[in-house]
Amino acid sequence: MFKQYQTRRVPMRVHYKCKHCLSTIAQLNHERLNLDQLGFNHLPSDQKEVMVKQHQSGDVDVLVICESCESALYKFPVYHELDHFIH
Ligand SMILES: [Zn+2]
Repeated sequence: MFKQYQTRRVPMRVHYKCKHCLSTIAQLNHERLNLDQLGFNHLPSDQKEVMVKQHQSGDVDVLVICESCESALYKFPVYHELDHFIH
């Protein structure tokens, strides 16, 4: 009996989420996650901990700012001081 070996690995998912409105901006699949490849190697580690959250499932949330929040911040710079705000 022919037995097919499963070599396919479940890719790791990286969710880019807006840290203000928590909307998902993008999702990427990675065979292997190298945070350095995502451009976080230049961040101080305390900042990296805030921006990158790894779940037990292997999925990673990366907190960024979406376009609508970015333009809101641009129009209303006072919001820079607030962690959460309503659109
Ligand atoms: Zn947002």
